[in-house]
Amino acid sequence: MIDVAVVGAGPAGLICAKELEKLGEKTIVVEKNKKIGDSVECAGLFNIDGLRRLDIDKGEYILNEVRGAKFIAANGDSAEMMGKASKAYVVDRGEFDRFLAKEYTGELVVGKEVKGARKKGENYELDFGKTVEAKSVVLATGNDNNLREQLGFHKPSRFISTSQYEIEGISTDKDMVELYVGSVAPGFFAWVIPVSDKVSRVGLGILDAKESTHNYMEAFLKRLKSEGKFKEKNNVLLKSGGVIPVFEPGLEVAHDNAYLVGDAATDMLAGQRVGCRLLFVLTGRGFQQLLPAVHAVDDFTITRSLAGATTRIINAEMEKLIPVYSGRSQHSLSTVGSG
Ligand SMILES: Cc1cc2nc3c(=O)[nH]c(=O)nc-3n(C[C@H](O)[C@H](O)[C@H](O)COP(=O)(O)OP(=O)(O)OC[C@H]3O[C@@H](n4cnc5c(N)ncnc54)[C@H](O)[C@@H]3O)c2cc1C
Repeated sequence: MIDVAVVGAGPAGLICAKELEKLGEKTIVVEKNKKIGDSVECAGLFNIDGLRRLDIDKGEYILNEVRGAKFIAANGDSAEMMGKASKAYVVDRGEFDRFLAKEYTGELVVGKEVKGARKKGENYELDFGKTVEAKSVVLATGNDNNLREQLGFHKPSRFISTSQYEIEGISTDKDMVELYVGSVAPGFFAWVIPVSDKVSRVGLGILDAKESTHNYMEAFLKRLKSEGKFKEKNNVLLKSGGVIPVFEPGLEVAHDNAYLVGDAATDMLAGQRVGCRLLFVLTGRGFQQLLPAVHAVDDFTITRSLAGATTRIINAEMEKLIPVYSGRSQHSLSTVGSG
């Protein structure tokens, strides 16, 4: 008998399954894509501390390391915070997911979509071409809502809609991400993330978008052009975008040994500090209820509350803080932004 069946082999599902295996639980992970890490939507900015806490080793998935961030307001005022050491990795998300898959020691089934999930006595039955029975089920299905309703979970109601281009030929400091706040991306922010000397990920997210993110993206690119960020020779290598569910405190994420983790649990905005996203993919309420014994839970709780404070700073106050801090020492700003 399987102890826990995990649906979805994104970071949340794979890390969750790995931790469960370490605790001696027999797990299975089922992924609908034929190849792990296929068709991921991500800017790939991961907080190094977060990865350390999750015991995730460095690997070939790392493309760049950044030490700081520059916040830029609508009127062009900016403020920088720069660490002495690297603070975040810029990663190849597909490679990252495959790295996690290699670290997972349990049974992994790829190329099979779980189409049905139901309670059978005390256990759960999942259909993906064949039927397996497990004592618990974890939905790590990201923004795919098909199964959650079958298991009696409500859908999230608020989203950040994103658009992202990978562009060759943007002038950036390879050490630093640039975050544009204010009307350029209402409710969230826009980013320029250096992948290498030549290539950057340029994108934005809009909270509760009423119109296409494409229009915002066009305006953002125009702005970058007017700021002289485009080199003479430039080229869009890849266009992507996706939807990120927004943290909803009241949304149920666990009942009767069924759990939601990662994006499925809307863990997003709880962890919305620069590059800290992944920490919360794993550490949301779903995971905490699933594995109360996991050593890092206390740390995560602390980080979550700090992150909450920073969320407010980034989303609502950052634009006001930029002019205040732009002329001050970097130490003052890092103190404000380090939560
Ligand atoms: C444009 C953009 C930029 C982003 N940038 C960052 C960033 O810089 N840093 C960061 O940390 N986060 C970022 N994010 C968020 C990050 O990508 C997600 O939070 C993360 O992918 C969530 O991981 P997850 O494992 O919960 O879900 P996912 O990565 O979505 O994985 C879910 C998996 O479940 C599978 N699945 C779904 N339904 C089924 C089924 N019925 N049967 C079998 N398999 C199924 C899917 O195929 C998928 O592989 C970004 C998101 C977007 C859209």
